[in-house]
Amino acid sequence: MVCGLAPACAAVGSDGTDDDARIALLLPESKTARYESQDRPAFEHRVEEICPACETLTGNANQDAARQQAQAEAAITNGADVLVLDPVDSVAAAVIVRHAASAGVPVVTYDRLVLDAPVAFHVTFDNRRVGALQAQVLLEAVGDTREGDVFVVLNGSPTDHNAAQFRDGATSVLDAAGITVGAEVDVPDWSPDQAQQAMERALATLDRDRVVGVYAANDGLAGGAIAAMTTAGLDPPPPVTGQDAELAAIRRILAGQQHMTVYKAVRTQATIAAEVAVTLARTGEVPEGVATDHIDNGYGQVPALLLEPIPVTRETIGSTVVVDGFWSVEEICAGM
Ligand code: BGC
Repeated sequence: MVCGLAPACAAVGSDGTDDDARIALLLPESKTARYESQDRPAFEHRVEEICPACETLTGNANQDAARQQAQAEAAITNGADVLVLDPVDSVAAAVIVRHAASAGVPVVTYDRLVLDAPVAFHVTFDNRRVGALQAQVLLEAVGDTREGDVFVVLNGSPTDHNAAQFRDGATSVLDAAGITVGAEVDVPDWSPDQAQQAMERALATLDRDRVVGVYAANDGLAGGAIAAMTTAGLDPPPPVTGQDAELAAIRRILAGQQHMTVYKAVRTQATIAAEVAVTLARTGEVPEGVATDHIDNGYGQVPALLLEPIPVTRETIGSTVVVDGFWSVEEICAGM
């Protein structure tokens, strides 16, 4: 065990063939449910399926950029052939990517882009569209507003490039509708607790009865905001957005506490990342035809795949997350 890296496969082929590659999956945090419950198992499963002799090394940085750098260095020292990196800090992680490149180890950026560094491939969702969808569905739910009505905006971590994209997508829609933002906070570390505190502060300074909508960038922030509002007696709270289709959020939507979330097929994302990583380890090349776009990360044009986000409200839970097998009805209802 080095710096939280744990071998995921017990049987490691070490016969010197191309197939006994080592692939490191470096995740950013564990307060958001998706990483350990969806991304990591789906990634490990796909690597195991297509390359049984491969070894997956996984690390979770728990929001600590320095720890993530140590995990990446340990992975390279331990012979990783490819890094699949979901950075805590999209700027600071350039050091990781540059170091990997100088060691001949290609880096696939996973979900969050790394800026100003030679990234081999990027797999994510259309993140501006995520923000725009959240804002559109929020506006529909709020309906007509009156003079004095305000929205509260809770963005994600300022170190996450995605958070800026969600915010830009949302802002373009909210600005076009001419709404008034009463309070806006970039929540450090995507922390639900800090979102709750930010919402408490907003309610203390605003006329709470005129808060008509809350833009929360993900389900963790939504959970914090809803806790603050229900404690303050706003029960049910005004419409609140989210993202990730976390089980807790789906249940809050059914209970009428959260208005919407955004479903992102992260198992598909993890499966594709695993396939690209294994091919990179075997051939040194990104498989042909996977990239549908190129994204400028300040260093160059990164071949990228942008998956489509899907909005989910109470009416569409069945036709989205349930039909896709993300959550079964039994799983959803078990906790209600
Ligand atoms: C991801 C979201 C996640 C958030 C917090 C973002 O970069 O795209 O799915 O909720 O980070 O980890």
